[in-house]
Amino acid sequence: MQTRFSPAQLDQPHIQEADRILRACVHCGFCLATCPTYILQGDENDSPRGRIYLIKHMLESAAPPSAATIRHTDRCLSCLACETTCPSGVAFGRLVDHARLTIEESGARSGAERLFRAFLAALLPHPRRLRLALGVARLIRPFTRPFSRWLPQRLGNLLDLTPPPDTRSQAVPPGVHPAQGVKKGRVILAPGCVQQAMAPHVDAAAIRLLTRLGIEVVVPEGGGCCGALDHHLGREAPALAAARNTVAAWNHIMESSGENGGVDAVVSTVSGCGAHMRNYGSLLAGDPEHSEAAARVSEKLRDISQFLAERELGEAEAPLPLVVAYHHACTLQHGVKTGDAPVALLKEAGFDVREPGESHLCCGSAGVYNMLQPELAGELGARKAENLARLEAQVVAAGNLGCMVQISAHVSGPVVHTIELLDWATGGPVPSPLEGLVAGLLSSEK
Ligand code: SF4
Ligand code: SF4
Repeated sequence: MQTRFSPAQLDQPHIQEADRILRACVHCGFCLATCPTYILQGDENDSPRGRIYLIKHMLESAAPPSAATIRHTDRCLSCLACETTCPSGVAFGRLVDHARLTIEESGARSGAERLFRAFLAALLPHPRRLRLALGVARLIRPFTRPFSRWLPQRLGNLLDLTPPPDTRSQAVPPGVHPAQGVKKGRVILAPGCVQQAMAPHVDAAAIRLLTRLGIEVVVPEGGGCCGALDHHLGREAPALAAARNTVAAWNHIMESSGENGGVDAVVSTVSGCGAHMRNYGSLLAGDPEHSEAAARVSEKLRDISQFLAERELGEAEAPLPLVVAYHHACTLQHGVKTGDAPVALLKEAGFDVREPGESHLCCGSAGVYNMLQPELAGELGARKAENLARLEAQVVAAGNLGCMVQISAHVSGPVVHTIELLDWATGGPVPSPLEGLVAGLLSSEK
């Protein structure tokens, strides 16, 4: 694709990068077939190619973004299905990042939209505030249900997405969790900020599983947000500040003893965060103080399924050969590119794993998308639930908290993290959403 940036514009690094990305597009349109918003809306402007034209015009003209450009950019999930499909290697995710930043800096959004986004940014990356808000939401939800059709859609949607309280575990304590038996490795566990408040049992299961396999786990002190949430909202300064803090904290651990502090990997159980942290090297490339450490973190970053796939699972045996519907999170399949690793691990542990049709399509979670675009997210969630229901599985497994919350709002059965099943299969407790099902199956066997 031809571009018409002025020499002055091309002096700016972000325009240089956008120019490179735009020039890679050959307008072939292959990406349309796998774009969830194009499939739902049937509008070229809601496709990757259509958005590329809108973003190109916005960046070249340097004029305030039009309402249409904002609307169609906001409708993009950043799911990266188009990147997987594109034969020309167009880095659409980075292009839409530039578009979001340009829109945010233009101040062209309505006051109400800016307020709602500021509310999400002030709430979600802060586990204490989020715990408090979840408590309030759980208290008021039964009373607001009869009036749900009169509530503002976004507020009603936030209440619908509130998960039940997690009575199973507290946030995992920071510090060193020693390996059991012979020590075979050492990892930093990246603490996801939203997951700490909503589902601390996932990291508790990860620590049990890893230490059982002989891996020492370091949980960093004061684990804050990795910056992914601000990044989704187009808030570059706080996103970069969070990235710098995270890189500095982990680098301190890596430098604490020996080469890389003996750290084999930085392991993430939230694929949305993992996919973002994987880009630290490029996000902080222009920062002389942090670029080297950021590149090192990116290189060490592994989704927990990737890390486990590179090792022996040991004596894994599913206590019951449950039928598991595995949901492929976009951040794993299109971002981190874990391939079949999670499915292979679950099968190796003895579960009967089935994969739904249209598994390349996003469930509608996409970071904060289901809070910002509840209508489209709801359609995608319902479509995902239909595809999962066809598998007649007893449980849905996924590797990303956002997907788990979104899918739970659309299916009636239990939804668990892949790691909870693997922990159970290697001697851990029954994942709590499965307790009733497992008790019923065991009593019917007697
Ligand atoms: S598939 Fe790639 S090259 Fe083709 S239109 Fe889409 S982004 Fe452009
Ligand atoms: S990132 Fe996803 S929603 Fe956005 S254009 Fe690409 S395929 Fe479509």
